[in-house]
Amino acid sequence: MHKLTDYLLAIRTPNSPSAPAGVKTVELVPADGDDVISSTIGGLRAGGLTAADFRSRAIFLVPDGPGGLVTYAALCGFSGRRVDAYADGAVLEFSRLDRDGAACPDAGRPSEFLMWAQVGGPVAEGIPTVHLGSGGQELVSPQAATVIRYAARLRMVPPESVRDALAMFVLVAALRRRADDRFPFLSTGTEPVPLTKNALDQGIDLEKLRQEAARHRQELRIASRGAEVVARVPVSPHNRRIAEANGVDIRTVLRRLGSTTDEEGMWHCPRPRSHSNGDERPSMKVYGDNRTRCQRCDAEKIGPVRLAVDVLRVTPDEAASFILDSDRVVDLRAA
Ligand SMILES: [Zn+2]
Repeated sequence: MHKLTDYLLAIRTPNSPSAPAGVKTVELVPADGDDVISSTIGGLRAGGLTAADFRSRAIFLVPDGPGGLVTYAALCGFSGRRVDAYADGAVLEFSRLDRDGAACPDAGRPSEFLMWAQVGGPVAEGIPTVHLGSGGQELVSPQAATVIRYAARLRMVPPESVRDALAMFVLVAALRRRADDRFPFLSTGTEPVPLTKNALDQGIDLEKLRQEAARHRQELRIASRGAEVVARVPVSPHNRRIAEANGVDIRTVLRRLGSTTDEEGMWHCPRPRSHSNGDERPSMKVYGDNRTRCQRCDAEKIGPVRLAVDVLRVTPDEAASFILDSDRVVDLRAA
């Protein structure tokens, strides 16, 4: 068990508890602006943290309130690991936990593509809502594990205690992790009920924050390399998944998106709302290179992943999951 004084670097935000004397401290002051993600990333940039800072023992001193969890998620994204935290007077050694929750059993892949779910909080209207027991992975029911693992987007309603909220976040992130992390949305308690179509106002998108923090680290790395020749990196499992999804027959994907074809081989656009006549006369053509194009909606020919991204308003990752992971489709656009 570590004490706060065992750490060599303490990371603070404006309302964090104070660091012990003699420990190097970095202050992250969120940048001005209403957008939580860009102001958090702005603070990360201005604070001057580097990846090397996390090679020594580093700890985040967590302030009270939901903002602490947002900064914590950014630090995990930036460092590419789970960072230890100090909250409610206790050192939480998250860096020692297994980041990969694959060992936690679930009840199997859901039979339908699950776009949204919620973990914690009161039951959310219209979407599956699950809860975690307290005390780690062994208290996650297989049903809850299925929902947390397979929901394309998961809204997390944190408990009031910062310490419990961090533990919940780390557990949820472990359950959702595949080749890469997939952080949840953090509820701000103001989300619309019921869930609206393609709503992107479902709390703070911690996954977007994670990706932007990781990109910042990447930029620093490139800058520090200067003119050094960058070694070719092997294709990541993530990119392989996107490539695999792009290999699925575009006509299968069109059908799954609710599109049908006429005798002449033209397809009705799965974005009928973008057409004044609901695309009554089909305007999508399928090309031999497994790509398609709607005369009205697409500036160029697009493949399976970009099509799903555009129609479902999801990320490329989520689109790949939609294409590869489900046999049946819930028509969210009708909701
Ligand atoms: Zn169209």
